[in-house]
Amino acid sequence: MQALALLGGKPVRTEPFPAYNTIDTHEEEAVLRVLRSGKLSTFLGTWHDDFYGGNEVRALEQQWADFFKTAHAISVNSATSGLIAAIGAIGIEPGDEVIVPAYSMSASATAPLFYGAVVKFADVNLKSCNMDVASIQTLITPKTKAIVVVDLFGRVYDVDGVRTLANKHGLYVIEDCAQAPGATLQGQFAGTFGDIGIFSLNYHKHIHSGEGGMVVCNDEQLAQRVRMIRNHAEAVINAKGFEHKDELINMVGFNFRMTEIEAAIAQEQLKKLPELLRKRRENVRYLESALQFSYLQWLSVPKAMQHSYYLHAAHFDEREAGISRERYLAAIKAELPKTLLRDESDVLIGGGYVKPLYWQPIFQERIAFGKTGYPFTLGNAKYDKGICPNTERLHTKALITHEMMRPGMTQRDLDDVIRAFKKVDAHLDALKTEA
Ligand SMILES: *Cc1c(COP(=O)(O)O)cnc(C)c1O
Repeated sequence: MQALALLGGKPVRTEPFPAYNTIDTHEEEAVLRVLRSGKLSTFLGTWHDDFYGGNEVRALEQQWADFFKTAHAISVNSATSGLIAAIGAIGIEPGDEVIVPAYSMSASATAPLFYGAVVKFADVNLKSCNMDVASIQTLITPKTKAIVVVDLFGRVYDVDGVRTLANKHGLYVIEDCAQAPGATLQGQFAGTFGDIGIFSLNYHKHIHSGEGGMVVCNDEQLAQRVRMIRNHAEAVINAKGFEHKDELINMVGFNFRMTEIEAAIAQEQLKKLPELLRKRRENVRYLESALQFSYLQWLSVPKAMQHSYYLHAAHFDEREAGISRERYLAAIKAELPKTLLRDESDVLIGGGYVKPLYWQPIFQERIAFGKTGYPFTLGNAKYDKGICPNTERLHTKALITHEMMRPGMTQRDLDDVIRAFKKVDAHLDALKTEA
């Protein structure tokens, strides 16, 4: 067999993998329809029928609510905006505590800061990479108001465990399902288990409109508060006829509105979601069944769950492999082509996910708004290194993630991926001696 590419041999493949593009004539026609109408957004930030947006925005919201079986779906210009609006809508007070996962995209943890919340980081469970319920439990105090749960990599969080805690302590559950559109547990969609769910429509997600997000919930009042925050709440609340001053709480509005163009694109994208998910799941099954090695343990999925595979993840056992995760990854990457997907095109495999969120300077230095430490000074949350050992271990040593299951990969593309892993497996000894 050829020597490893990392050690000077010939790579398994150099021809790039196909670019992943879900945009076609359906989106083109939708955009043209909007452009020709001349109405690129009809939102009004005054109390008027158009306070709720134009035809495309409303059609998307209806389609989204029907698909995910929720009473309300509210479009926004990003999932980050959706998270901020959701935190505002539940009435967070400065100094309230919000528990977030240490392992997620940064917005899951920064959204509560906008309302003066004190953010506390829960560790993840090694079996799921999602928030660990026992870790959440140790963080709950009388000041805790909400838990932000994340369906990391496209896997539904521990719904029963979190719900039990939330019910017991009267906490809101905000579900960041940006990575899990279409994931299900017992047939019910991710995003619909907590009080409010937030989806992303950014370019890197399963379906996208360039930028965009969707907020879902079943509670009429929460939905209305999200719609208010989306669109300059403070400017319309009088005209809307508010009666009690509590209605003003957190109604300092933003402009989080989606345009008609994005809404038209998103309608076409949502129609494609089931087929895109089917393909991802099929590809993962194929890859996973071939990639069985003693040092790689794929995160298993319960029978009642359908994963949406934003990423696929495996635990890497450095001792069993006899080499470091970094050396293993370098060897795999050397065998495979870059993917012409993004400007920073790379081989779509990596170690861990993001840095533990509390490692970021904003938490380490406790500087967010102004220079005196607000809102961190309102509480005494800990951000010391080591507070979430599982997250740190996954980030530094134990986890491998890849997105080689993307739709558009052909049988031959998948087989090349498999050949690369098998070649590296057959040469592990060479990687040990020449380290
Ligand atoms: C992508 C992502 C977001 C942010 O989405 P935007 O639409 O870019 O704001 C939030 N949370 C998670 C878990 C994500 O993966």
